[in-house]
Amino acid sequence: MNLENKITLVTGAASGIGLAIAHRYAAAGAKVAIADLKLEAAQAAADAINAEHAGAAMAVAMDVTDEDQVNAGVAAVVAAWGTVDVLVSNAGIQIVNPIESFAFADWKKMLAIHLDGAFLTTKAVIPHMYKQGSGAILYMGSVHSKEASPLKSAYVTAKHGLLGLCRTVAKEAGPKGVRTNVICPGFVRTPLVDKQIPEQAKELGISEDEVVKKVMLGQTVDGEFTTVDDIAELALFFAAFPSNALTGQSLVASHGWSMG
Ligand code: NAD
Repeated sequence: MNLENKITLVTGAASGIGLAIAHRYAAAGAKVAIADLKLEAAQAAADAINAEHAGAAMAVAMDVTDEDQVNAGVAAVVAAWGTVDVLVSNAGIQIVNPIESFAFADWKKMLAIHLDGAFLTTKAVIPHMYKQGSGAILYMGSVHSKEASPLKSAYVTAKHGLLGLCRTVAKEAGPKGVRTNVICPGFVRTPLVDKQIPEQAKELGISEDEVVKKVMLGQTVDGEFTTVDDIAELALFFAAFPSNALTGQSLVASHGWSMG
């Protein structure tokens, strides 16, 4: 599987899963736009990739909830490299709270980052994909695209919603050569997850160790975290897969936590 000379755009790529995907794509021969809210971190990530693969990465300042910023970011990538062949809509955050005390503002923020972000980036890249008659769009879902957990009403709602967006875009865009798929990771040890451990311990009244062993990994087959490299391999597989045979699909990678 390679992405030789493909132009890729990964949102939320300054950290965690997105960063690992950016490195994997560059190693597979792609050019990678590192789009993130945090421009300095995105630039540092691009510099690190360019040190290994000269000219392979650029940093793009982008708040995925802001239509103008999304459009300007995509336009900058197209101005530099001519098109976008692969979009990975990955930027995301987590806010946990019981439903009765979940602030409405937090609910709206969660849906904006996960769903508006996926919609706006898709809308911005797809005309370029249509023009060339090909493209791959990946959404970063979660086991929570298929299962629910307490305290995560907004996250579970948003991640389920990505399946609907993926399937709709697959039907609209398939005849024009564009495919869409969702990757659904189990728990991956990134800053997003590290932040949740003390928060969940407090909300659930258990120790941080119990949060990791019981809440996060208790339903896996082996008590192991999924890794950023596991997800980067899947992101390469979906981006490089050569036909529309795989479109509108979602694949769970969670050490057996979810088998649905
Ligand atoms: P992370 O916190 O390491 O990275 C997320 C990145 O997104 C950060 O660089 C952040 O600056 C960026 N970001 C946040 N809001 C943004 C915005 N509005 N616009 C642009 N960029 C923004 O988190 P991660 O664990 O790598 O998560 C990446 C994706 O994977 C998320 O969609 C998350 O829901 C999903 N996911 C994570 C796990 C896990 O266990 N870590 C599991 C399943 C799914």
